[in-house]
Amino acid sequence: VAVLVDPVKRLANFVRLWQEGYTGFVRAMEILEVEPEIEDRPNAVDLARSRGAVAFRDVGFRYQDDGPHVFKNLTFDIAPGEFVALVGASGAGKSTLCALIPRFYEVQEGAILIDGMDIRDLTLKSLRQNIGVVQQDVYLFAGTVAENLRYGRPDATDGEIVEAAKAANADDFIMALPNGYDTDIGQRGVKLSGGQRQRLTIARAFLKDPSVLIFDEATSALDNESERAVQAALLDLTEGRTTIVIAHRLSTVRKADRILVLTEEGIAEQGTHDTLISADGAYANLYKAQASI
Ligand code: ADP
Ligand code: MG
Repeated sequence: VAVLVDPVKRLANFVRLWQEGYTGFVRAMEILEVEPEIEDRPNAVDLARSRGAVAFRDVGFRYQDDGPHVFKNLTFDIAPGEFVALVGASGAGKSTLCALIPRFYEVQEGAILIDGMDIRDLTLKSLRQNIGVVQQDVYLFAGTVAENLRYGRPDATDGEIVEAAKAANADDFIMALPNGYDTDIGQRGVKLSGGQRQRLTIARAFLKDPSVLIFDEATSALDNESERAVQAALLDLTEGRTTIVIAHRLSTVRKADRILVLTEEGIAEQGTHDTLISADGAYANLYKAQASI
């Protein structure tokens, strides 16, 4: 299937793919704060600790009932513990796909399953307890470092908070702040770098310890030291859980167990980096375009 026809457009899309930040999902989360929550079904059951198996079954979705479909007949399986990279041009639906899993929007057709259960049959609270989202720093609020981290798990002890911060390579810089874990990060004079903020969101995810991790890879450049600290922490965070990354970096894409190439037609291709390069299709074209930049 020829997915990206015009070579110039293809190149432009590709450049955007790796350069553009990702805002749709963030917006979706913000909207959630003001829109009424999706309600539990009368017989909704609690999802205990999930194994992290995620499946889309003929999923059809559009934002407005009379609007265009973002997805039609979207079907795929992600195995427990699998590391999947989602790539595709801007507007292909990567953010939307990720927002459907914690049920920020309801699908109109088909179903999304977690451990074989339709997510609409689960309580929202238990579903979302099993899903961690790491994205750029929008989720830090005015308050202390400890309060910001505890947001990942309200009943966490101080000890668990420090442990999570250490796992996220954040403890050192936190200890160097004026009041350590009690430093108000909304306070004047307390400035965190992009990499530090990101490590706080990673620490939060460690605390939450979800079975499914959705990671919106940052595209903004971090300084080298921050970058290494962030990448190392993230790699640890993905251990033993299902990870879906909206991937912008080639290094992430190459590491993935499987790459899903999303286009307006749905999943155009899937496989490992090597198999997709051999297939010489949409992904190979994206890759060649980036390699030549
Ligand atoms: P990607 O993350 O791959 O760039 P998105 O999931 O953000 O793609 O967008 C997929 C499509 O859905 C695009 O056509 C986009 O314009 C549209 N879209 C995204 N968010 C909304 C929204 N909140 N309301 C209506 N349309 C949206
Ligand atoms: Mg997006």
